[in-house]
Amino acid sequence: MSDKSQFPFSISPSTLSKLAKLNISNIWDLALHLPLRYEDETHITPIADAQLGVPVQIEATVIHQQIQFRPRRQLVVQVKDVSGHMLYLRFIHFYPTQQKQLAQGNVIRALGEIRHGFLGDEMVHPKIRTDIEKGLSESLTPIYPTVNGLNQPTLRRLVDSALKSLPADDTLPVSLLEQLQLPPLIDSLHFLHSPPPLYTVRDLHEGTLPAWQRLKFDELLAQQLSMRLARHQRLNGHALSLNGDGHISQPLLANLGFELTHAQQRAIREITLDLAQNHPMHRLLQGDVGSGKTIVCALAAAIAIEAGFQVAVMAPTEILAEQHYLKFQHWFAPLGIQIAWLSGSMRKKAREETKSLLTNGTIQLVIGTHALFSEDIEFNNLGLVIVDEQHRFGVAQRLALKNKGDSVHQLMMSATPIPRTLAMSFFADLDVSVIDELPPGRTPIITRLVNSSRRHEVEKLVRHTCAQGQQAYWVCPLIEESEVLQLQTAVDTVAELQNSLPELTIGLVHGRLKPVEKAAVMAAFVQGDIQVLVATTVIEVGVDVPNAALMVIEHAERMGLAQLHQLRGRVGRGAASSRCVLLFSEPLSDMAKARLKVIYENNDGFEIARQDLHLRGPGEFLGARQSGMPMLRFANLEEDLALLEKARDVAPMLIAQQPEVVKKHLHRWLSQRAAYLGV
Ligand code: ADP
Ligand code: MG
Repeated sequence: MSDKSQFPFSISPSTLSKLAKLNISNIWDLALHLPLRYEDETHITPIADAQLGVPVQIEATVIHQQIQFRPRRQLVVQVKDVSGHMLYLRFIHFYPTQQKQLAQGNVIRALGEIRHGFLGDEMVHPKIRTDIEKGLSESLTPIYPTVNGLNQPTLRRLVDSALKSLPADDTLPVSLLEQLQLPPLIDSLHFLHSPPPLYTVRDLHEGTLPAWQRLKFDELLAQQLSMRLARHQRLNGHALSLNGDGHISQPLLANLGFELTHAQQRAIREITLDLAQNHPMHRLLQGDVGSGKTIVCALAAAIAIEAGFQVAVMAPTEILAEQHYLKFQHWFAPLGIQIAWLSGSMRKKAREETKSLLTNGTIQLVIGTHALFSEDIEFNNLGLVIVDEQHRFGVAQRLALKNKGDSVHQLMMSATPIPRTLAMSFFADLDVSVIDELPPGRTPIITRLVNSSRRHEVEKLVRHTCAQGQQAYWVCPLIEESEVLQLQTAVDTVAELQNSLPELTIGLVHGRLKPVEKAAVMAAFVQGDIQVLVATTVIEVGVDVPNAALMVIEHAERMGLAQLHQLRGRVGRGAASSRCVLLFSEPLSDMAKARLKVIYENNDGFEIARQDLHLRGPGEFLGARQSGMPMLRFANLEEDLALLEKARDVAPMLIAQQPEVVKKHLHRWLSQRAAYLGV
């Protein structure tokens, strides 16, 4: 019987539908549905010896039962064990059957954590057993993730049946397992589903157990294999080879007014080589904020235009897209390039006009938001797509882009450094160029953490900064619940600052402004007509005003590390020494404290990303961008680096030598999730 078929034993339709909710549709899915945790019902702990806050099983006689009505209706049962100690069992939700189970004089077992309660030591909602004549379990009891209506005993029975029906041969070659010192898969599954006696809960939760290692390895291997196959598919795909003759890039470089850094030059060399290939480039240009990614992508655009193709540059926000538009216009318009702008908020007539000029090929370079990849936009001969701040786009947008330009070269840019383990796993299909050098003459940004009660001192600093001819950003707190409230706060802030700093010109930019209004405010700030720019977090990405030397961020404790780092990167772009003041309000959560400490102590985006990963775990780190990506169920990218490296080494060998093993392995691990890969 093949894996794909239904189960080889009978399961009721209602159970089948509940299994489907758990993404279980065959015996392998069942076998890989591993316990979330284990309960230890193998021995009895005397109440007197029980540690607080640790799950224990006690055996005791009910001496009193009572329903209390305050503060709410609840069942409270007093029990006493052979050590003579008393304990309360408390149930906020209960059924008549439970009252019967816990009748006075009954001997019961209760499994739970003891804590100090109002009346004395108590267990809240312990698991109760009355079948004590059955004796104790011999091994730990697995507890599975489940859904409503599917109880643990049923799941356990189904998993047992599945384990018995699995084919006996391993999925990976025996020689490979020996070399990696990993146990057979079937043994590992048996072990984890019904751990042998003598293993403790602590042992079982230890990720270094050979059985866990095997499962984690298999999972990481599946990920490596699918990423590699996606890559092979791309390399076998066709794209036109783009070779420039330098008639645009040469003068562009000559007019820049600065020399490229070595890191920028290296990135451009790598991109130039990619563009000349006849399969699509899929390259990520990674560089900390301010490292100069824009000129690198402009040179890539120049090459594609020289080769006679159209280029589209997509940015995640209108403000950023407009900034790019202005910059590109400044660079390209004098060279006679036809350049255009496209966004969702554009007037219909203008949009229609741009659209037709894109379709007939008049426009060579177009810059905009994701509106660029709306269904009705048709390019004449799109050769290169550049995506800025790539991590800000969601899956849907990336899919739209993929559909438009499967055979088009793609250059993605990101200032959010991807930690090495993530780069090796989720981003294994990308080639990466790193700009690991800032343009010369920058002075490091001085970061200060200031309690918001000292706000007036910060206002003085703003005055001082502007008196020296420099400019400042003042970022208003993020108010997630309400955009209106956030706007109100921003308006209030402008009034307050204007009141304390009457000699300064203060501007406001926020998400509700119309694009033309935003552009006008930004232009005034760029020209220095506005000295202090109060902003909601819309300025977060990519805005470039070298004369801005002070960044004040209110309620910094509410923001994530990546966001703080991005915001701080808006200053320190010119040669003058810059400051970033992080205002915080107490009380601070532990997480907020940890984040502020990281941002205070580090300037290097890579290090910040690494610590962010550590604080939040990869799932959250990837955030919305990765929604829909198959996340790892068992492996942990931080703890299991060694396994990840092994999987990465083994994957190409298997693909080359044992394609049937690869197929089987992927089918087993990714059957329902494969669709998301490669986006
Ligand atoms: P990011 O990588 O954050 O997108 P930008 O491309 O906006 O950074 O560049 C930041 C600033 O540094 C811009 O003002 C840009 O003109 C300037 N810049 C870029 N490369 C160099 C260089 N090699 N030398 C001097 N200034 C540079
Ligand atoms: Mg940028």
